Amino acid sequence: MIKLTGVTKSYKDFEAVKDLSLEVRDGEILGIIGHNGAGKSTTLKMMVGLISPTSGTVEVMGRDMARDGTYVKRFLGYLPEESPLYENMTVNEYLRFFSELYDMPPAKAKERIDLLLDSLKLPERNKLTGELSKGMKRKVAIARALLHDPKLLVLDEPSSGLDPLTSFFIVDYMRRLRNEGKTIVLSAHNLFHVEYVCDRVAIMKNGRLVVCDTMENIRKDLGKREYEVKFM
Ligand code: ATP
Repeated sequence: MIKLTGVTKSYKDFEAVKDLSLEVRDGEILGIIGHNGAGKSTTLKMMVGLISPTSGTVEVMGRDMARDGTYVKRFLGYLPEESPLYENMTVNEYLRFFSELYDMPPAKAKERIDLLLDSLKLPERNKLTGELSKGMKRKVAIARALLHDPKLLVLDEPSSGLDPLTSFFIVDYMRRLRNEGKTIVLSAHNLFHVEYVCDRVAIMKNGRLVVCDTMENIRKDLGKREYEVKFM
């Protein structure tokens, strides 16, 4: 679904991501973990075409993002690490606004919004987004990312900074989405959530990929390889 080959991203003379080759397989949840500044967000932004690599290639669904990014983006849903909402809009107005940006017919948009609000347990559709709790805001941002029913979801720390129950709900929701056929990449600090939900885990350190494998294999190799798993 996503293939990064020899990707480097430099900000002036600082290399945030270094020679990264990584594949996200169809139908899996791949977790990217690493310390602050490891290069997770930069990697995710390149996957969705928000920023371009300095060198190397990013392919999504077999297409080069440098050439076909505009086409591919319609199949992509992205949750940025910081997802400010328009706080003077109600949840419903906010999602309707984004459905218009996606050119969704109003009846289809309503059906999709109803379904998302229901499955995300977001009953307060007429409340201003600015008045919602942090967890509810995150759910609205996830609904926005899912509005156009993308095949591929890229989520930057979807469960971080939330209360444990909401955090677990969101992680479990990712599992449900994967079981419905979506491919998901998410970054996280919380290893427990990653273990619970991810089929494979990529560990990044100082912009480099240390390992990408199942948690089971990574655990077997702990101590043999020189990598560090950071617990929150
Ligand atoms: P965190 O968990 O804190 O979000 P991260 O693993 O997502 O960290 P990135 O946000 O990808 O890391 O940042 C990687 C490195 O690149 C950091 O040192 C960061 O300061 C630097 N960086 C990121 N964006 C920029 C930018 N626009 N300009 C300059 N440096 C940047």
